[in-house]
Amino acid sequence: DDDAPVTLPGGEPEPGAHLAGNYHPLPVRIASGEGAWVRDVAGTRYLDFLAGYSALNFGHRHPALIAAAHAQLDRLTLTSRAFLHDQLGEFADRLAGLVGPLLAPSAGGEPTLVLPMNTGAEAVETAVKTVRKWGYDVRGVPEGAATIVVAAGNFHGRTTTVISFSTDDDARRGFGPYTPGFRVVPYGDAAAVAAAIDDTTVAVLLEPIQGEAGVVVPPADYLPTVRATCDAAGILLVADEIQSGLGRTGTTLACEVVGVRPDLVTLGKALGGGIVPVSAVVGRGDVLGVLTPGTHGSTFGGNPLATAVGIAVLELLATGEMQARAAVLGAHLHERLAALVQAGLAEATRGVGLWAGVDVPPALGTGRDLAERLLARRVLVKDTHGHTVRLSPPIVIAADDLDWALDQLTDALH
Ligand code: PLP
Repeated sequence: DDDAPVTLPGGEPEPGAHLAGNYHPLPVRIASGEGAWVRDVAGTRYLDFLAGYSALNFGHRHPALIAAAHAQLDRLTLTSRAFLHDQLGEFADRLAGLVGPLLAPSAGGEPTLVLPMNTGAEAVETAVKTVRKWGYDVRGVPEGAATIVVAAGNFHGRTTTVISFSTDDDARRGFGPYTPGFRVVPYGDAAAVAAAIDDTTVAVLLEPIQGEAGVVVPPADYLPTVRATCDAAGILLVADEIQSGLGRTGTTLACEVVGVRPDLVTLGKALGGGIVPVSAVVGRGDVLGVLTPGTHGSTFGGNPLATAVGIAVLELLATGEMQARAAVLGAHLHERLAALVQAGLAEATRGVGLWAGVDVPPALGTGRDLAERLLARRVLVKDTHGHTVRLSPPIVIAADDLDWALDQLTDALH
């Protein structure tokens, strides 16, 4: 029952009568966390198998990230972009160093550029503005006519423009009028992308794997074919890697898995180390270069605290150890999930790296039912789209803990 008030174990009502009702949380009130584990207000331990939808890829309070945050809190937290500060340039250079080699090359050899923002939706908005302006300035599309091709089932955030091209009725209905200029085609269908492109099209915007939709992995030739289609049409490919990027798939970007180099990539979630909201658009210098002073910005984007934490995150990713760990643990995860399907306990499972969607057979209840049964077994997951549960534990999870949680999942499905 989605309208039921949240009641904590023991019948205690959750305080917060003034909290807006735009979420339906599981009945657990978390008070502390370390690594892959959290404790509720009564001190009960739970294994976090959601990891803040990938915002906690490195676990709760990773020591190196907390140390960076503490050091920065003691020095400087905010300047606004009216001034430079001593973390911003290093953050941009490190992020360009990590992601730049994974992008399509700039037209004139311009260096990779980084535009820091705060939330994921803001990074997507930034990408939308950038490709429109590029379309007008560089491609010669008549002002106001730009179109962007997007995929059905997408999730790119909650702002007015972003929900304008959502196909989720809950996300969209009641919030019009909608921003025009988007063409929605079925996900995974490269021919539909090609058919939607015309002289007004400036970009294709996709999640390489659709997270919110239930960890939907497209056919292996989908992104390579879309990349070739964009090249042939002379338009941009924007990969929204806010949930898929920064280690989750066993690689730095999910696009790497299929050898595709996007022109722009949106990053967020894990970029802030689970400490502060940090997002960014990283892309070809000739594309992000269309933004000039006064055309875009954010008071908090690229602030000293955010970028100090971001630098520490990028240090964790620089060695490749996190990505490799996600690949190794992920292979084990998918092996065990395949056994659930064979045993008839799961209808289907999908995923790449340490990331999976599990479809619950209708006879065994809804995704929410399974999430509640797992909560009783001290494993935190979240359902999505009715009968799917998404698994995305922190990459730092111990192998034994991963197996323990999968034992709980198996028992909860029995
Ligand atoms: N894009 C993708 C692919 C996401 O998964 C999300 C969040 O789940 C967003 C964008 C929006 O990020 P935020 O909630 O930080 O605005």
